[in-house]
Amino acid sequence: MPELPEVETTRRGIEPLIINKVVAQVLIHNASLRWPIPLEMVTVLPGQKFHTVSRRSKYLLFSLDQGTMIVHLGMTGHLRVDSSLSARRKHDHFEIVFTDGSTLRYNDSRRFGAILWTKDDPLQHVRLSGLGPEPFDARFNTNYLYKLSRDRKVAVKPFLMDAHVVVGVGNIYASEALFRASIAPTRPAGKISKAAYKRLVEVVIIILNEAIAAGGTTIRDFANSEGKPGYFKQELRVYGRAGQKCTDCDTLIKQVKLGQRTTYYCPCCQK
Ligand SMILES: [Zn+2]
Repeated sequence: MPELPEVETTRRGIEPLIINKVVAQVLIHNASLRWPIPLEMVTVLPGQKFHTVSRRSKYLLFSLDQGTMIVHLGMTGHLRVDSSLSARRKHDHFEIVFTDGSTLRYNDSRRFGAILWTKDDPLQHVRLSGLGPEPFDARFNTNYLYKLSRDRKVAVKPFLMDAHVVVGVGNIYASEALFRASIAPTRPAGKISKAAYKRLVEVVIIILNEAIAAGGTTIRDFANSEGKPGYFKQELRVYGRAGQKCTDCDTLIKQVKLGQRTTYYCPCCQK
């Protein structure tokens, strides 16, 4: 599943390929994504110019003259830009043909993604308005996590993965961050010290930045290719390593279910 770094990599890869391009035609081949693609996009978008592509959580916000196209990649979605003369591929459900003959195509085999359109402030859209801070936002800091977590009995890992707390910390990143911060994922969020939350904030930002940097090597792939962003190429210290030796202490990595998500940790290094 694309996580925040893959979505950010997509943003950086796609933006230069579509900026200042003008929509000639919108083709909806299959509107039934997670929510139906609004049919009005076929009539409203032609003639409008693309300005910027920004990101909020795992939503991509494409700013046009009269509104914003909001894209979520779901489980298997990806975007690519190629020549409109090149053949459409299986699972290409949506495309925007530009006046210069290039085409932005959305491909999604499992169709859990979304393409939405709003003329209002996209940050106030019903899908986005309730989200917590971005991990790179100054609002995500030690005091914020510490205060928010007091009296919370939920384990720290699902707490960290809760999009109301902070967006974009998925299962892999949460496991890896808690290992690097030496915090057991099973501990109640409300029992974690301020010093430990300080470490956690720091490593979350480092890990996400490392993943974005790893994805950055694949940016050229968004033109005339599969359009799949580079996936998390970082060394994984605990994730997926149940039964193997901890890289720091040789204790065997444990696997547990927390909030229905498989969680990996070192019972010796993480307290
Ligand atoms: Zn260890």
